[in-house]
Amino acid sequence: MATGALMAAGEALSARVSHLSESATLAITAKAKALRAAGEDVIGFGAGEPDFPTPTHVVEAAQQACADTTLHRYSPAGGRPALKEAVADKTARDTGLSVAPEHVLITNGGKHAVYTVFQALLDPGDEVLIPAPYWTSYPEQVSLAGGTPVAVPTRLADGYRVGVDQLEAARTPATKALVFTSPNNPTGSVHHPDDVAAIGRWAAEAGLWVVTDEIYEHFVYGSAPFASLPVVAPEAADRCVVVNGVAKTHAMTGWRVGWTIAPAEVTAAMVTLQSHTTSNVCNIAQSAAMAALSGPQDHVAARREAFAHRAGIAHARLAALEGVDCPRPEGAFYAFPRVEGLLGRDIGGQRVESSAQLCQALLETAKVALVPGEAFGAPGHVRLSYALSDEELADGLQRLAKIVG
Ligand code: GLU
Repeated sequence: MATGALMAAGEALSARVSHLSESATLAITAKAKALRAAGEDVIGFGAGEPDFPTPTHVVEAAQQACADTTLHRYSPAGGRPALKEAVADKTARDTGLSVAPEHVLITNGGKHAVYTVFQALLDPGDEVLIPAPYWTSYPEQVSLAGGTPVAVPTRLADGYRVGVDQLEAARTPATKALVFTSPNNPTGSVHHPDDVAAIGRWAAEAGLWVVTDEIYEHFVYGSAPFASLPVVAPEAADRCVVVNGVAKTHAMTGWRVGWTIAPAEVTAAMVTLQSHTTSNVCNIAQSAAMAALSGPQDHVAARREAFAHRAGIAHARLAALEGVDCPRPEGAFYAFPRVEGLLGRDIGGQRVESSAQLCQALLETAKVALVPGEAFGAPGHVRLSYALSDEELADGLQRLAKIVG
């Protein structure tokens, strides 16, 4: 295409899309993978993507599904009934929440689930409270639905846990919903069940919707166990949407299967939306997800142990660095150190003034890929995913210590 035509196309872009920033987590992951493919010795602390393989029984279920010719055709836009049943059974088993299949929507991963919820719930002007630091895609998805994201800052001193007082201070007559994520991406914080219950009760009294992202439910290493918000705060259940998926628990990031659990009316609206947008999620991936949810679960505990071990190693090494404050990760698979003490310093021959510049310098000189806190509404921080092999983790942390320490 000629340059003139490209410019014309650029001018034609909608305001909605032109204001969108690329997902930093995916961009940095892609960059690290491309550098490795080009022969560079890069350690990728970027994406939250387990290094473990998808379990064998899941892969075999997908192989069998490929040979089933009925699965070569369309299936119901909102998900295959057997997978909805499997999600309902899994939810009752793991969290105690009783769910009917008409409350379940199968989506193209957890990210698409969150997008679809906001499309279904928000009108222009609706405000959505998002505790910060937050996962990079939440505010963009709220904006794409015409809503207004409202960041609610949390403090390192509180372990980045949000409290009812902070939420109430941010609430206005336009507030429609709260996004709640525990275990948290990017901070690794986990809310105590009593605090989850208090937040749920507050939301119910305020008449707010809660979108609770439970994708890290099985990865908890601290003193607080996982708590599902509609279970510990049943009064919030009729305005609550649970988001989950197979990606993290079963090392299935590339298979793209997630789901929502929502009141029947909201689910029906989301199915209608999906019928005009994606149609059904790939049938083979749905078969794989069924096997993951209904088959043996032994790998889940084993992987939790591996991540708990890595959390300890990452925390010990990072907390020992001068100029770095790193709370101990309690869940998910992220460490989120504050690096303000490194700013204004010379890192690998470059003066760095921001966490974004620090990440750039670390990639160029130490060959380690981290995500800058700017992507999570928290400049002055960096995120490291420790969902990589023990050897790579040790190597990457050593490189950081060498250049920073
Ligand atoms: N949720 C993961 C992360 O934060 C995967 C990448 C993404 O979708 O953002 O790294």
